[in-house]
Amino acid sequence: MGITEYQIERQKISLKPCPFCGGEARLKKHQRLEQTWYVQCSKCGIRTIYSTQAPYESWKDAMKCAVNQWNARVENGKID
Ligand SMILES: [Zn+2]
Repeated sequence: MGITEYQIERQKISLKPCPFCGGEARLKKHQRLEQTWYVQCSKCGIRTIYSTQAPYESWKDAMKCAVNQWNARVENGKID
């Protein structure tokens, strides 16, 4: 349990544990929507909103956006 780390093209991405249950956070790709990412707690299932790639962004930016959203919410103690 605790921080989940991903290595994405030499960049390390860290996900903080779930603010509600302390479960492990997972970075996920949406199954149907193209280039859409979100972060979900593996234990209670709470997740961030979907982060979709904007036309000017790379898929990595959309992914990082989801990660930032998760980590920011953890700090605020709430999630959408
Ligand atoms: Zn949780």
